[in-house]
Formats: sequence, C-alpha cells, structure tokens
Amino acid sequence: MSNAEDSVGGISDELLQVLACPVCRGALSYTKDRKALYCGKCRQVYPIKEGVPVLLPPNNIKGDAQ
Ligand SMILES: [Zn+2]
Repeated sequence: MSNAEDSVGGISDELLQVLACPVCRGALSYTKDRKALYCGKCRQVYPIKEGVPVLLPPNNIKGDAQ
C-alpha cells in the first residue's frame, strides 16, 4: 500500500510514462498546474478528473452523459 501521494491529485510518473495520446500516440506531459495532461506532438490537452486522466479523442469529450 502506498498512499503517500493520494492528496496530490495527480498521477504517478510511472503511470504517465505508459500513457499515450489517443490521437497520435505521442508521449504525454503534465501541464504547469498539473491539473491536466498534454500531448507534446499534437498539443491536445486532456483533463485529469479525480486523479484519473481522461484520455478521450477530442470528438468524444463533450456531451457524453445525455
Ligand atoms: Zn497527440
């Protein structure tokens, strides 16, 4: 059990390294405020909600709960 970072609101560097942009499969990095991830290749930004990165292609981000 390792809960040392559960108040940071982010994801671990290890997880970040295995994640990839769903659009171009490029590597993802934190934005400056660490509240989102962005793709260095296509510059798409993905929000992090409750510690879980929302890696959906831009076309699927809006209006999925109706
Ligand atoms: Zn990308």
